[in-house]
Amino acid sequence: MKVVLKNLTKIFPSRNKKDHSEVVAVNNFDFEIPDGKLIGLLGPSGCGKSTTLYMISGLQKPTSGQIFFGDDDVTELSAEKRGIGLVFQNYALYPHMTVKQNIMFPLQNLRGNDKLSKEEILSRTEEAARLVQLDGLLERKPSELSGGQQQRVAIARALVKMPRVLLLDEPLSNLDARLRLQTREEIRRIQRETKITTVFVTHDQEEAMSISDEIVVMKLGVVQQIGAPQDVYDDPTNLFVAKFLGTPPINVFKGRIQGGKVMIGEAAVFDAPGIEDKDVFIGIRPEGFTLEENGPLELNVSGVDVMGRDISVISTHPESLNANVRSIISADQKNEIGSDTVRFSIKPHKIFVFDGETEERIYLQGDQG
Ligand code: ADP
Ligand code: MG
Repeated sequence: MKVVLKNLTKIFPSRNKKDHSEVVAVNNFDFEIPDGKLIGLLGPSGCGKSTTLYMISGLQKPTSGQIFFGDDDVTELSAEKRGIGLVFQNYALYPHMTVKQNIMFPLQNLRGNDKLSKEEILSRTEEAARLVQLDGLLERKPSELSGGQQQRVAIARALVKMPRVLLLDEPLSNLDARLRLQTREEIRRIQRETKITTVFVTHDQEEAMSISDEIVVMKLGVVQQIGAPQDVYDDPTNLFVAKFLGTPPINVFKGRIQGGKVMIGEAAVFDAPGIEDKDVFIGIRPEGFTLEENGPLELNVSGVDVMGRDISVISTHPESLNANVRSIISADQKNEIGSDTVRFSIKPHKIFVFDGETEERIYLQGDQG
């Protein structure tokens, strides 16, 4: 089921009489979610992810704009009638019910035309449990499950209704690191198997990048960029997106364009033919540095992290906005790093230049643009 958001906007009135400022939680969100895909809705806390999700679900009404499921305008349709499955951060299972009872609960409440026979309820429950690999645990109580298993029960409970759209709001946030990794693989597998159009909300860029067909990066209610995770990483549209994606994060320097060169301090680190002189921010991905004896960028070495195959050189630079500059290079080159300073040249496609005022990308020759 394709989902279309048209100029979707949500404005919350001010919360008290003294402060009249409204909150524009979601500002003119325009997007067509392709059928059968998993979309990662990504951004820092408060950027409007949950509000977007609740509008798709029908739990919140948009201030303006429309939502379509396929060709149906569902904007005025209640949540129950939309055919969605919703999973929250806290799994909210019924503690006194078994796993099986928790999963089948939504089906037992169906009435009228939707009412199912006992056999159908049971077979659908078993199918949903199988999908999330809980088949052996159906008679347990939630308290007898790990956090990851509890979240899988919540997912099964959302799937059992055979939703047209699956909506997940930070579903992994309550899990410890190992379970989070495992459960996100599970969600990816389940989504591929069921092909249900899915919106996955998270503030964790790595999580979104690893499981999404496409990511939508939001800031203060406004969509910044939409695309395949690798494409957004390789070709960020502004400084915010460049900084939000990637671990370790991108290195940002203050600098300028001068005489067709990208300058950091007095060093011309890259060519920028045809671009007018101006102040800029310069982003260089950690993997974008090449050790070079006479390379243009000199950094003050403060340490080296050995990570097996690679090493991470930690250094400082007066124009760096990050406390440390991180450069990842091959472990074979460890002996080539000086004890005080190190010199690098910069790889193409790993350096991005942003306008010093608007923070929008300035495309250099050879950039994808
Ligand atoms: P996210 O899920 O990305 O953390 P939310 O969608 O929850 O962000 O919130 C977006 C913005 O809207 C925030 O500034 C938040 O404080 C505000 N907001 C959310 N819900 C309400 C509400 N019911 N009333 C007023 N403001 C709200
Ligand atoms: Mg939220």
